[in-house]
Amino acid sequence: MFKAFFFDMDGVVFNSMPVHAHAWEVVMAKHGLPFTARDCYLQEGRTGQSVIEECYLRARGCYPTEEEWKAIYQEKKDLFYSHGKAPLMDGISDLLYWLHEQPSKPQIFLVTGSGMRTLLDEINVELPGIFARERMVTAFDYTHGKPDPEPYLIAYAKAKAADPTLEKHECCVVENAPLGVQAGKGAGLFVAGVNTGILTEADLLAAGADVTFPTMQALHQYLKQQ
Ligand code: CA
Repeated sequence: MFKAFFFDMDGVVFNSMPVHAHAWEVVMAKHGLPFTARDCYLQEGRTGQSVIEECYLRARGCYPTEEEWKAIYQEKKDLFYSHGKAPLMDGISDLLYWLHEQPSKPQIFLVTGSGMRTLLDEINVELPGIFARERMVTAFDYTHGKPDPEPYLIAYAKAKAADPTLEKHECCVVENAPLGVQAGKGAGLFVAGVNTGILTEADLLAAGADVTFPTMQALHQYLKQQ
């Protein structure tokens, strides 16, 4: 059994990707920046700043100013929130509380590109007792977002501080997006890809996932057999 689990948030803990994709499409179009739902799923895991800068560079041949990207990101966040709370992913609650109750007491971290403070607060309302702030790595905590391994390296360092015997192969990353899978593998960790969106399990394997699953329930069954 793994000693630490590093869960991504969007598309893993919350079924928030359909609304994220819609909000990105609408706001980018408003600013004359071409961006599709597929772009959103492929870029998933990057910070808002990075998504906007890359799209802006492709469309206009230059980077946006800090004022510009911050304004676009704010509009996107406002539209996202106007849709209300994203539901939990099917099967994630059962999986998290099952892990939480294991006698081996695995560490459970949240590792996300999100910089949305309210969603991070909500997670403790939706899933009380699972993710303490000291076991969350968010856009506020690192310099380079996924697919850079930094977010997962920080999570590993924090987990190892709590358990000095912890080895990298004893940590399981749970990701739904190719860039997130790359980040986990770049950090040298075991990565379980769960395909919860419009991509395929083959996309996650191609990104380097060690194992892939079609649903959170399938991952849960796999972990029960470990
Ligand atoms: Ca994700």
